[in-house]
Amino acid sequence: MMKASSIFIFLFLFTITTSISHSDDPSISSVCIIGGGMGGASVAHFLRRYSTTQIRLFDKNHLVGGRMATVSIGGDTFEAGASILHPKNYYAKNYTEKYLNQSIGGNNEEDDDVLGIWDGERFVFKSFRTDWKVPILRKIVRFVNSLRLFFRYGFSLFRMFDFVEDTVNKFLKYYEGFETRPVFGTVEEMLKWSGLFNLTTRPLEEELVDAGLSPLLIQELVTVITRINYGQSVLMSGLAGAVSLAGSGGGLWAVKGGNWQMAATLINSSDVLLHLKEEVESISNLGHSYELNTTEGKSYTCEVTVVATPLDELNIQFHPEISIPERKLQHTYTTFIRGLLNPAYFGLDSVADIPKLVGTIETPNVPFSCISVLKKYSEKDMTYKMFSRQPMAEELLDKIFSVRNETIKINWAAYPQYHAPETFAPFILDGQHLYYVNAFENAASTMETSAVAAENIARLIISRFATEKSRDLSNLRSFGHDAPEMHVDL
Ligand SMILES: Cc1cc2nc3c(=O)[nH]c(=O)nc-3n(C[C@H](O)[C@H](O)[C@H](O)COP(=O)(O)OP(=O)(O)OC[C@H]3O[C@@H](n4cnc5c(N)ncnc54)[C@H](O)[C@@H]3O)c2cc1C
Repeated sequence: MMKASSIFIFLFLFTITTSISHSDDPSISSVCIIGGGMGGASVAHFLRRYSTTQIRLFDKNHLVGGRMATVSIGGDTFEAGASILHPKNYYAKNYTEKYLNQSIGGNNEEDDDVLGIWDGERFVFKSFRTDWKVPILRKIVRFVNSLRLFFRYGFSLFRMFDFVEDTVNKFLKYYEGFETRPVFGTVEEMLKWSGLFNLTTRPLEEELVDAGLSPLLIQELVTVITRINYGQSVLMSGLAGAVSLAGSGGGLWAVKGGNWQMAATLINSSDVLLHLKEEVESISNLGHSYELNTTEGKSYTCEVTVVATPLDELNIQFHPEISIPERKLQHTYTTFIRGLLNPAYFGLDSVADIPKLVGTIETPNVPFSCISVLKKYSEKDMTYKMFSRQPMAEELLDKIFSVRNETIKINWAAYPQYHAPETFAPFILDGQHLYYVNAFENAASTMETSAVAAENIARLIISRFATEKSRDLSNLRSFGHDAPEMHVDL
């Protein structure tokens, strides 16, 4: 049994490897991609590497990038959606270095972030300010801050780092070459292969207890991080939770000028027919192709259609209907304020005592997930970013801030609400050539996971066409044996 399956896997891999690495384009006439975020742009990029097919990409917005977008407030521009990248997000790194000519370095400012954990009444933990002018003093304070974290959470902290590192290492398997990395037909297969699937079957909290983390660390620091990165508690599924913890380590970075540029540059360099401000309203299976109808009153025919946006809150009509597991999206209300926090709201005397990053724990007393300083213009003038699960009412903002010169509110249908065990929509929605990149978002939602899922979808398309083509050829050949007259026709 062992041997047979290994041989099968080898043959399967061999087919895919040869079909892709030898650029044996299986002649797909056209591919339509719905969505110009990281997922859709990456599908276009990888398809173009493997195929000369015509690619059309639709986005209902006037700009590409999707959940990678910027906001301008008080004359400066900041990330409004996806903001941070992990140092081992290798696709994003490659896009940024190769296509945007930017070198990747850690954000030095983040080292100076002063964290406070707010429980609605007091700061249960607060690190010391590290913005000292004298470098040696800054170093000492940072060291003392690390010691304070250690005294509060003990060796549990190291167990948390190990848990995250183990998850990241498993994720790194998705960058292996084609020789060892198969094409995956389902999300489950993809996660099982890397060893990450089990993490989607249990809540983060259970995983962390088993990993030996103390209840205090889970209730405080871990909760702060999951609330910041996914607006959810430690009851979220383990894999998304681990990914959110990975997004709180060192060396985090962002694309200078905005992460959305990754999508833009991929689309620009992939010879794509781009349809902006054109929303796809319906997708009909015509047998060997799909008809897409858009809000412009136009229709397009494509041999392959790739949905690169979450379908959960969309109104795209599918003919025939498709069926995917129900999934709710977590809405993250993002509020940008240029002004000044009110120290009295936090029971403090001075604004200088409010930590640069205010994280929160799970308690009904706290109406927001976090507040952070994006830019300090002076002691009395700063730009802040807040995340909350509910829209922030004006009266509440007036209590939290003593000065508000400008306020911008964005309601993001941000990422899935994660519940273990996760159920996954199929990558192939109809058994034919209708694909769904965002099925992978139930594992975790990040710019990089979108790229990784997109790369697999591109290879899946190519390999399925290659397989169909070779099957057709062998059918024709065997048919030819039995029916010489047909053979002559051919
Ligand atoms: C507030 C917030 C913070 C985040 N922070 C981070 C972070 O720090 N790091 C990180 O890695 N990730 C973060 N994420 C998650 C990350 O943004 C997403 O996982 C990723 O960008 C998803 O990319 P996507 O291409 O799959 O989807 P999207 O970016 O949502 O792209 C889908 C595109 O499809 C278009 N579209 C939808 N329907 C149609 C239609 N019918 N016709 C045509 N076009 C359509 C949309 O306009 C959109 O441009 C954050 C997300 C949010 C909201």
